Amino acid sequence: MNSQFPSIQKGSSIAVISHVNPDGDSLGSLLGLSLALRKLGAAVTTFVNDEVPSKFKFLPSIDSALRYDVSQEKVFDQCFVLDCGDEKRLGYSIDILEKSRQVINIDHHISNNGFGDIDIVDSGASSTCEIIYHIITQEMGVPMDQAIATCLYTGMVTDTGNFRYDSTSPDTHRIAASMLEAGVDLHKITFYLQQNNSLGSVKLLGHLLTEMEVYAEGKVAVMQVTRQILEEYEVQYDEVEGMINYGRDIEGVEVAVVLKELSEQGVKVSLRSKTSFDVSKLAQAFGGGGHRKASGAVIDCNIEEAKKQILDKIQTMM
Ligand code: 5GP
Ligand code: MN
Repeated sequence: MNSQFPSIQKGSSIAVISHVNPDGDSLGSLLGLSLALRKLGAAVTTFVNDEVPSKFKFLPSIDSALRYDVSQEKVFDQCFVLDCGDEKRLGYSIDILEKSRQVINIDHHISNNGFGDIDIVDSGASSTCEIIYHIITQEMGVPMDQAIATCLYTGMVTDTGNFRYDSTSPDTHRIAASMLEAGVDLHKITFYLQQNNSLGSVKLLGHLLTEMEVYAEGKVAVMQVTRQILEEYEVQYDEVEGMINYGRDIEGVEVAVVLKELSEQGVKVSLRSKTSFDVSKLAQAFGGGGHRKASGAVIDCNIEEAKKQILDKIQTMM
């Protein structure tokens, strides 16, 4: 599939980067590809944007990933950009891309704008980790091992909502099966991803569910997460991820919206759909992107204004 995949020279300097607010697919693909590139003898530096959410700290080789220091001058031979549909989502690590001799963009977002020198974009793939699996086994010829499989499995399981979303294909399950054969510890992954939530985050969920609003005759569910409420419940921003599904899964709801006040300026909007309503188009109207059924954007205004703008746009699109 990816005959465009570049050759990897022994000793070449390679940066591997991904989007801000790292999730399972971003971290899994970063670490999985980095481990495989090292097996080919490349000098690999893996960069993460922002703090790694604590539930992902069990990932093999996570301690080798660096926070980017803008003062560094290094120029890389190659820069792999993973799971990122748009350079704007790279935050400060855009700097690394700009300084690299060759940029390889590997992604599964339908909205990917093809910013690489080489673009390997498959919007039919369940996750970037699924694409990376094919690259590692077919293009790089590196055999699967337990560490790489654990990283890639984590990205696949998180980006498919535990193999439930439409993007889950027979191929997704075949790859998952081969990861289990490579020794993935399913109990450990389930424990860290799902059975280790902080007490505060569960209480915050209770609060958000109680305060949830519905609009458009019950077709739109909205939850609002302010800085103040995060502080009150002592919850980290990334722990809110996944709570949006409770809105989406209500009978009659077509679009779920979560508005999160950012510590800097602006509001992060998360969008989910379970019908033909295309939330990637909605997100793109606000400069964001994603997938038909899961998208996001950042709007530069206060939370009330963001809610109004999103609801108005949904009304016109419905
Ligand atoms: P989430 O709501 O979980 O942060 O993101 C859902 C999906 O939308 C992910 O696939 C993510 O890549 C995409 N997404 C979220 N925020 C943004 C954004 O600000 N810009 C773009 N282009 N995509 C986003
Ligand atoms: Mn992804």
